[in-house]
Amino acid sequence: MKQTNRKLPLRVYLSCAFLALSLVLIVIMWLFQTVFFDDFYRSIKTFQAERCALSVSKNIEDEQITELLKEIEEKNDMDVSLYGVTKYNSNPIFSPIYAPHNFISSHSIVNMSTVYDCYFKALENGGQTTIKSENIPPKYNRFGMGFDAPFDKKSSQLLTCAVITQSEDEEYLILVESDIAPVTSTVDTLKVQLIIMTVFMVIISIFFAVITAQYLSKPLHDTNKKAKQLANQNYNIAFSGGNYRELCELNDTLTYSAHELRKVDELRRELIANISHDLRTPLTMITGYSEVMRDIPGENNPENVQIIIDEANRLSSLVSDLMDISKLESGTATMQDSVFCITDCIKEIFNRYTKLIEQDGYNIVFEYDTDAYVKADPLRISQVLYNLINNAINYSGDDKTVIVKQSVSPNNVCIEVIDHGVGIEEDKIPYIWDRYYKVDKEHKMAVVGTGLGLSIVKNILGRYDAQYGVKSTLGFGSDFWFVLKTVEKE
Ligand code: ADP
Repeated sequence: MKQTNRKLPLRVYLSCAFLALSLVLIVIMWLFQTVFFDDFYRSIKTFQAERCALSVSKNIEDEQITELLKEIEEKNDMDVSLYGVTKYNSNPIFSPIYAPHNFISSHSIVNMSTVYDCYFKALENGGQTTIKSENIPPKYNRFGMGFDAPFDKKSSQLLTCAVITQSEDEEYLILVESDIAPVTSTVDTLKVQLIIMTVFMVIISIFFAVITAQYLSKPLHDTNKKAKQLANQNYNIAFSGGNYRELCELNDTLTYSAHELRKVDELRRELIANISHDLRTPLTMITGYSEVMRDIPGENNPENVQIIIDEANRLSSLVSDLMDISKLESGTATMQDSVFCITDCIKEIFNRYTKLIEQDGYNIVFEYDTDAYVKADPLRISQVLYNLINNAINYSGDDKTVIVKQSVSPNNVCIEVIDHGVGIEEDKIPYIWDRYYKVDKEHKMAVVGTGLGLSIVKNILGRYDAQYGVKSTLGFGSDFWFVLKTVEKE
């Protein structure tokens, strides 16, 4: 809690993020529109002039060359001149073929010395050159009559691109002139615009940050409020709402957690109720019988002592079942696996039931073909078998018959414990493996278990990835089965 108080709310982080983004954008704009603006402008103009000159050079043989030159001039706002070059005593003589129409700049009046200059420079440079004039005074019109207004403090420059081209023994000189106007005033205008934009962007950023924060944090706040209720053991709370996917997922997860917590809480209550009930019953019996034996002469007989012993045994089996289940479920139960003969293990268990068979007339049959070996903890597997056989005896029908069947297939051994007793309703079958589940809670049989037997079976078999299940028909009996992997005899 203390730590969360030290953290800033989401809207502050968002405002900072939006502001930072705006500032970065403005700095980028500032750099491009002011610092690098002039360089960009010049590079683009140079590139355009060179492209135009090369395009004329390519189409020099075109009959429509005059139209093409006019079009280039109009489209690009440039002056194009074309000269035919003839040599006299190896001195070039220029005869004008096309004179410029745009007169983009008064100083672009091409005089012969410029033409010579450009020609020789282009010649030196392998046939192409681009010359930037020195700064020339502010724009005045082509004929030197007055200035164009308004004009820039700085003087403009003239960019001349000269290309020498050949066609059928004829040599031509193409001159493309472009005016590089000074950008100082434009840059000044942009600076003012940028200052205004900066102010606007800061305001807009804060506005958007607040709106976004509201959109993001409001549902989060609601979820947090409900989560606090969950922490206060209000498990019936439903987490809903959320206008973006992550929050919807969080809400779904929390709703699921609340549901699971409710189940755990119910189970805990049920468990405590069951345990206390199951502990109280034998304890009451033991105390009751002991008091009777102490107070009433003649009641201190072997039958009553046997009842006390039976109840004490029940208590101890309940406690050991509880210990087993808690160890198995928490994963702390250690398994001491070894290869053993499960067939012999079943036979041994059967020996212990001989008395029951003799006394109570139970018919317990073991059907098997061959010996099967498995790798597991023999004590835990005996526990599984005991629990299943005890249940079969407890819930067996009037025929008092329990059949244990072992079927061996190439890699597996399937053990079935079959009785012809009460059976289990189909819809109850999935629950019988749960801790403390009893199909008939009211009806307690004489030899009822603790309600933990099948849960222990499930946990032990789960440890060995064994398949298990039950086929049961109400009134006709049950067939509990499990399959273990067989191994070679060691
Ligand atoms: P219990 O100690 O009550 O037998 P178990 O976990 O072993 O607890 O079994 C859970 C429930 O499954 C039992 O209460 C009983 O209703 C049902 N059950 C288990 N085995 C059989 C069976 N062979 N025939 C009918 N019902 C059975």
